[in-house]
Amino acid sequence: MDYQNILNNIEQEVLSKNVTGKVAAYIPELSCISADKLGMHLYCINSGHYQFGDSNERFSIQSISKVFALTMAMLVHTDDLFKRVDVEPSGDPFNSLIQLEREQGIPRNPFINAGALVVSDTLMSHFENPKEEFLKFVHTITQNDSIDINEEVYLSEKKHSHRNASLVHLMKSFGNIKNDVDQVLDFYVYQCAVAMSCKELATAFMIYANGGSLLNGESEIITPSKVKRINAIMQTCGFYDEAGEFSFRVGLPGKSGVGGGIAAIHPGQYAVTVWSPPLNPKGNSELGMLCLERLTTLTGLSIF
Ligand code: GLN
Repeated sequence: MDYQNILNNIEQEVLSKNVTGKVAAYIPELSCISADKLGMHLYCINSGHYQFGDSNERFSIQSISKVFALTMAMLVHTDDLFKRVDVEPSGDPFNSLIQLEREQGIPRNPFINAGALVVSDTLMSHFENPKEEFLKFVHTITQNDSIDINEEVYLSEKKHSHRNASLVHLMKSFGNIKNDVDQVLDFYVYQCAVAMSCKELATAFMIYANGGSLLNGESEIITPSKVKRINAIMQTCGFYDEAGEFSFRVGLPGKSGVGGGIAAIHPGQYAVTVWSPPLNPKGNSELGMLCLERLTTLTGLSIF
C-alpha cells in the first residue's frame, strides 16, 4: 500500500474544503491557534512513518489525554474502577451535567469530562505525585522526555473551568470523588494541557494498535486484554455525542480533543493522528474527521 501517496491525496482533497467549524474559544488560550493548521501522521506497525503538513508541531491534546489517564488507572486499579465510572456511550456533549444528576454521580464513561474527573480522582488516591506520574507515563509510551504541558493553556483553562467545577462538585455530593475537589480539577486540567505533535501522539497510540506493547522493543505497557477494553471504549465513547457518526464514517477506535486533534488506531496495523483546530458543533475536528474518513476509504481498511 502506498501510504504516502494516499496521505498526499488526502491533503490535496481537504485543503480545498470550505471549513465551517470554529476553533474552541471557551478556553481562551486555545483560540489563539491559527485555524489553518493541518497535519496528519500515520505510524504503521510494518512500514513506519508517513505524514503531511504541520504534523511535527505540538498542540494541546485536551481530551485525548483521557485515554492515557484511563490506561494508567487500569494499570493500578482492578475492576472496582468500573463501579465508579460506566462504559456506556453518553449521547450527550462532553461537559454535560444532565445525565450525571439522573444517574447519581456515576459518569457514563471515562472519555467524557465527568468520567475523566473520576479517573483523575482514582489516580490521586494512588499516586503521591499524580502530575509527575502522568507525564512520566507519556514519556514512557513515547520514549520522549521532552513532552510537557503548555503552561498558558493550563492557566487559561484553570480560570475558566466553571462547568468542570460543577461536575466535580456534583459527583463529590454523590460520594464519587474521594479527594479535594480543587485538586482533582487541577490535575484534570493539567492532563488536558499536555502538548504533543501528531507524530508524538501517533507514537503514544501505538501501544493501543500493538496489543499494549511498545513497538521498538518487547516492553509490555498494558496487557492485550486491557487494551481490547480501552479500544472498545474508544470505539463506543471516543467522540461524545458523535461516537456513532465517527464509527459510521471512519470505522476505527479513536479519541478527539477540543484542541483539534484526533488519534485513532487500527489494531495490528497502525496508529494515526490528525490535527486541524476548527471544530464541528459536537466539538470534534471537522477536517480531522474528514481526513480519517478518507484514509479508511482510500485504503479500503477499517475494523469493520
Ligand atoms: N479540557 C477540556 C474540557 O474539559 C477538554 C474537553 C475536550 O477536549 N473535549 O473542557
